[in-house]
Amino acid sequence: MKCENSINYNRQKYTLIINPCSGNKDCNLILHKIQNFLGDIDVKITEKKGDASAFAKNSKADVVIVAGGDGTINEVINGLMEKKLAKTLKSDFSTSVFTGGQVEKSGLKKTDPSPQGENATSLLTGGRFSFYKPMNTKEIKPNNIPRLAIIPIGTSNMVARAFNIPKNIDKAILLIQQNRRKDLDIGRANNRYFAIACGVGIDAEMYKNVEPKIKKMFGEVAYPLSLLKAIFNYKPKLLQINVNGNKYFGYYVLVCNIAKFQNILQILPDSKYDDGFFDVLILQKKELPDLLRYLFGIATTQVYKFKDVVCVKATSLEITSEEPVIAHADAEIIGKTPIKLKMYEKAIEVIC
Ligand SMILES: [Mg+2]
Repeated sequence: MKCENSINYNRQKYTLIINPCSGNKDCNLILHKIQNFLGDIDVKITEKKGDASAFAKNSKADVVIVAGGDGTINEVINGLMEKKLAKTLKSDFSTSVFTGGQVEKSGLKKTDPSPQGENATSLLTGGRFSFYKPMNTKEIKPNNIPRLAIIPIGTSNMVARAFNIPKNIDKAILLIQQNRRKDLDIGRANNRYFAIACGVGIDAEMYKNVEPKIKKMFGEVAYPLSLLKAIFNYKPKLLQINVNGNKYFGYYVLVCNIAKFQNILQILPDSKYDDGFFDVLILQKKELPDLLRYLFGIATTQVYKFKDVVCVKATSLEITSEEPVIAHADAEIIGKTPIKLKMYEKAIEVIC
């Protein structure tokens, strides 16, 4: 894990993306403080879903600062990854498409950021064979998109916790000034990118049923309340997990990118967010006592020792089921199975 020292932060350009709906903090005060510390910055205030992602994608700054919670961070990560992959594909096409000794444009659009485009291996163009160099996740340059900085004003602030970013606004701004950076792997579940985890099964049901009013009034308490509801209402369905050439079966899958959040929660003790691997947890039983045991195991960093829990490291995997099963990425519902997952190693730099 690298942690580079400060470069001249006075020359940095910043885009600040504020979600005024996150938590209960005074956004004007935050804005005032950030402008005091960092000077003239490009300020973007979100009004609706999707704004944060678009602001991040269009940012021309060196650093995108998110003043918000994990939902806003997830949107910004999606915007940054779309920007990164569009750039990578563009430069990849300029060097790697050959036809009979001549460089020729391929049939794909140059800026096509779609998953199908980036996974392409060969194309037929005008009756001749073209070779498209498959994108290796390690080829993605870490510095070609803005770095991510966080002012944690959300409900849970799990990403900020993983990077030890303080909730105190002055201290968080000081970190941004210091400009020390760590790499963060990013996962993709179908068409959605995520920083923390993708879950298929009961925790997606929990996130689906969280009451926004309770979350706003009581904060994190909203999650265990919603989980209780899910435990008694959710009917587990068998999932098939295709990973590393093997097939596994279970009733709940958690694909972790970040699995340690300071001393609050450590799901897996050896998990790293910059090693290029997901930590995949497959829980194989479905009865209520088993579910409660798994929850206890997750809360106490013991779940990986259970005999009916499979833990595997993977860079890609697929989760399928006969009946569709709900899935989330970073607590955002992304649809139902089948879910394809892919790892992007060291895709984003986080200032921390
Ligand atoms: Mg990892």
